[in-house]
Amino acid sequence: MNLKNLLREIEDFPEEGILFKDITPILKDEDGFNEVIERFLDEFAELEFDYIAAIEARGFLLGPVLSREFACGFIPIRKSGKLPADKVSVTYELEYGESELEMHTDSLEAGDKVLLIDDLLATGGTSLAAIELIEKLEAEVIAAGYLIELTDLPGRSNLQDYNIFSIMKE
Ligand code: 5GP
Repeated sequence: MNLKNLLREIEDFPEEGILFKDITPILKDEDGFNEVIERFLDEFAELEFDYIAAIEARGFLLGPVLSREFACGFIPIRKSGKLPADKVSVTYELEYGESELEMHTDSLEAGDKVLLIDDLLATGGTSLAAIELIEKLEAEVIAAGYLIELTDLPGRSNLQDYNIFSIMKE
Protein backbone atom coordinates (compact mmCIF):
# COMPACT_ATOMS: atom_id res chain seq x y z
CA MET A 1 0.00 0.00 0.00
CA ASN A 2 1.59 3.26 -1.13
CA LEU A 3 -0.10 5.99 0.88
CA LYS A 4 1.63 8.68 -1.20
CA ASN A 5 -0.52 7.68 -4.18
CA LEU A 6 -3.61 8.49 -2.13
CA LEU A 7 -2.41 11.86 -0.85
CA ARG A 8 -3.86 14.71 -2.91
CA GLU A 9 -2.19 18.11 -3.32
CA ILE A 10 -4.38 21.17 -3.81
CA GLU A 11 -2.79 24.39 -5.04
CA ASP A 12 -3.67 27.76 -3.47
CA PHE A 13 -5.70 26.35 -0.56
CA PRO A 14 -6.68 27.79 1.87
CA GLU A 15 -4.72 30.78 0.54
CA GLU A 16 -2.81 31.64 -2.59
CA GLY A 17 0.69 30.16 -2.62
CA ILE A 18 -0.10 27.25 -0.27
CA LEU A 19 0.09 23.68 -1.56
CA PHE A 20 -2.38 21.90 0.71
CA LYS A 21 -1.94 18.18 1.48
CA ASP A 22 -5.42 16.71 1.39
CA ILE A 23 -5.74 13.47 3.39
CA THR A 24 -9.40 12.80 2.53
CA PRO A 25 -8.57 10.31 -0.29
CA ILE A 26 -6.53 8.28 2.24
CA LEU A 27 -9.44 8.21 4.68
CA LYS A 28 -11.85 7.22 1.91
CA ASP A 29 -9.73 4.21 0.94
CA GLU A 30 -10.43 1.31 3.30
CA ASP A 31 -6.94 -0.17 2.91
CA GLY A 32 -5.27 3.23 3.09
CA PHE A 33 -7.05 4.24 6.28
CA ASN A 34 -6.35 0.83 7.77
CA GLU A 35 -2.65 1.14 6.91
CA VAL A 36 -2.47 4.51 8.69
CA ILE A 37 -4.00 3.08 11.85
CA GLU A 38 -1.80 -0.04 11.73
CA ARG A 39 1.36 2.06 11.35
CA PHE A 40 0.47 4.11 14.43
CA LEU A 41 -0.37 0.92 16.33
CA ASP A 42 3.01 -0.63 15.45
CA GLU A 43 4.94 2.52 16.34
CA PHE A 44 3.31 3.11 19.71
CA ALA A 45 2.69 -0.52 20.75
CA GLU A 46 5.42 -0.44 23.43
CA LEU A 47 4.63 3.05 24.69
CA GLU A 48 2.82 3.52 27.99
CA PHE A 49 0.30 6.35 28.07
CA ASP A 50 -2.97 7.21 29.76
CA TYR A 51 -4.74 9.22 27.05
CA ILE A 52 -4.65 10.22 23.43
CA ALA A 53 -5.15 13.93 22.79
CA ALA A 54 -5.75 15.26 19.29
CA ILE A 55 -5.97 18.71 17.73
CA GLU A 56 -9.09 20.07 16.01
CA ALA A 57 -10.04 19.45 13.30
CA ARG A 58 -8.18 16.83 11.31
CA GLY A 59 -6.54 15.32 14.39
CA PHE A 60 -10.08 14.30 15.35
CA LEU A 61 -10.22 12.03 12.30
CA LEU A 62 -7.35 9.91 13.66
CA GLY A 63 -7.16 10.34 17.44
CA PRO A 64 -10.47 8.74 18.47
CA VAL A 65 -9.89 5.73 16.18
CA LEU A 66 -6.50 5.21 17.84
CA SER A 67 -7.86 5.64 21.36
CA ARG A 68 -10.39 2.91 20.62
CA GLU A 69 -7.57 0.66 19.33
CA PHE A 70 -5.33 1.39 22.32
CA ALA A 71 -8.26 1.10 24.76
CA CYS A 72 -7.65 4.50 26.31
CA GLY A 73 -9.64 7.71 26.67
CA PHE A 74 -9.65 10.54 24.13
CA ILE A 75 -9.13 14.25 24.89
CA PRO A 76 -10.05 16.96 22.37
CA ILE A 77 -7.84 20.05 21.97
CA ARG A 78 -10.09 22.64 20.34
CA LYS A 79 -9.98 26.04 18.70
CA SER A 80 -11.07 28.84 21.03
CA GLY A 81 -14.70 29.22 22.03
CA LYS A 82 -15.80 25.62 21.39
CA LEU A 83 -15.39 23.93 24.77
CA PRO A 84 -18.20 24.49 27.31
CA ALA A 85 -16.57 23.93 30.73
CA ASP A 86 -13.60 25.52 32.57
CA LYS A 87 -10.61 25.56 30.27
CA VAL A 88 -6.96 26.46 29.79
CA SER A 89 -5.91 28.44 26.69
CA VAL A 90 -2.75 29.04 24.71
CA THR A 91 -2.36 31.66 21.98
CA TYR A 92 0.14 30.92 19.22
CA GLU A 93 1.46 32.59 16.08
CA LEU A 94 0.32 31.57 12.62
CA GLU A 95 2.01 32.65 9.39
CA TYR A 96 -0.57 35.45 9.25
CA GLY A 97 -2.00 36.47 12.64
CA GLU A 98 -2.56 34.26 15.65
CA SER A 99 -4.81 31.48 16.86
CA GLU A 100 -5.80 29.93 20.18
CA LEU A 101 -6.18 26.35 21.40
CA GLU A 102 -8.07 25.22 24.49
CA MET A 103 -8.52 22.16 26.69
CA HIS A 104 -10.88 21.49 29.56
CA THR A 105 -9.07 22.06 32.85
CA ASP A 106 -10.26 18.71 34.20
CA SER A 107 -9.29 16.75 31.07
CA LEU A 108 -5.90 15.76 32.57
CA GLU A 109 -4.38 15.37 36.01
CA ALA A 110 -0.79 16.00 37.08
CA GLY A 111 1.44 13.17 35.93
CA ASP A 112 -0.88 11.83 33.22
CA LYS A 113 0.98 10.56 30.16
CA VAL A 114 -0.38 11.71 26.82
CA LEU A 115 0.11 10.64 23.22
CA LEU A 116 -0.56 13.68 20.98
CA ILE A 117 -1.98 13.08 17.49
CA ASP A 118 -2.45 15.42 14.52
CA ASP A 119 -2.71 14.91 10.79
CA LEU A 120 0.27 17.01 9.75
CA LEU A 121 3.44 18.56 11.19
CA ALA A 122 4.58 21.73 9.40
CA THR A 123 6.30 24.43 11.51
CA GLY A 124 5.32 22.70 14.76
CA GLY A 125 3.59 25.82 16.11
CA THR A 126 0.22 24.12 16.55
CA SER A 127 1.79 21.12 18.28
CA LEU A 128 3.88 23.31 20.59
CA ALA A 129 0.71 25.15 21.62
CA ALA A 130 -1.03 21.83 22.28
CA ILE A 131 1.97 20.62 24.30
CA GLU A 132 1.97 23.87 26.31
CA LEU A 133 -1.68 23.25 27.21
CA ILE A 134 -1.00 19.68 28.30
CA GLU A 135 2.00 20.83 30.35
CA LYS A 136 -0.07 23.61 31.95
CA LEU A 137 -2.14 20.80 33.45
CA GLU A 138 1.15 19.21 34.63
CA ALA A 139 0.67 16.23 32.36
CA GLU A 140 3.40 14.89 30.09
CA VAL A 141 3.53 14.44 26.31
CA ILE A 142 5.40 11.19 25.85
CA ALA A 143 5.15 11.16 22.05
CA ALA A 144 3.50 12.92 19.14
CA GLY A 145 2.33 11.14 16.00
CA TYR A 146 1.49 12.57 12.58
CA LEU A 147 0.26 11.12 9.33
CA ILE A 148 2.40 13.64 7.37
CA GLU A 149 5.56 15.59 8.18
CA LEU A 150 6.67 18.44 5.89
CA THR A 151 10.42 18.00 6.01
CA ASP A 152 11.39 21.37 4.50
CA LEU A 153 9.78 23.12 7.48
CA PRO A 154 11.32 23.17 10.97
CA GLY A 155 8.62 21.20 12.82
CA ARG A 156 10.94 18.41 13.91
CA SER A 157 13.66 20.76 15.13
CA ASN A 158 11.13 22.98 16.90
CA LEU A 159 9.90 19.84 18.68
CA GLN A 160 13.38 18.45 19.33
CA ASP A 161 12.68 17.91 23.03
CA TYR A 162 9.86 15.50 22.16
CA ASN A 163 9.52 12.03 20.69
CA ILE A 164 8.13 12.64 17.19
CA PHE A 165 6.83 10.03 14.74
CA SER A 166 5.42 10.57 11.26
CA ILE A 167 4.13 8.00 8.80
CA MET A 168 4.83 9.98 5.59
CA LYS A 169 7.59 12.49 4.98
CA GLU A 170 6.79 14.99 2.24
P1 5GP B 1 2.07 23.86 11.96
O1 5GP B 1 1.47 24.47 13.18
O2 5GP B 1 2.93 22.65 12.29
O3 5GP B 1 2.77 24.83 11.09
O4 5GP B 1 0.85 23.35 11.06
C1 5GP B 1 0.22 22.12 11.30
C2 5GP B 1 -1.24 22.33 11.52
O5 5GP B 1 -1.82 22.98 10.39
C3 5GP B 1 -1.96 21.00 11.68
O6 5GP B 1 -2.96 21.13 12.69
C4 5GP B 1 -2.58 20.73 10.32
O7 5GP B 1 -3.88 20.18 10.43
C5 5GP B 1 -2.63 22.09 9.65
N1 5GP B 1 -2.07 22.08 8.28
C6 5GP B 1 -1.19 22.98 7.77
N2 5GP B 1 -0.93 22.71 6.51
C7 5GP B 1 -1.65 21.63 6.16
C8 5GP B 1 -1.77 20.86 4.94
O8 5GP B 1 -1.17 21.11 3.90
N3 5GP B 1 -2.60 19.80 4.99
C9 5GP B 1 -3.28 19.45 6.11
N4 5GP B 1 -4.06 18.36 6.06
N5 5GP B 1 -3.17 20.16 7.27
C10 5GP B 1 -2.38 21.22 7.30
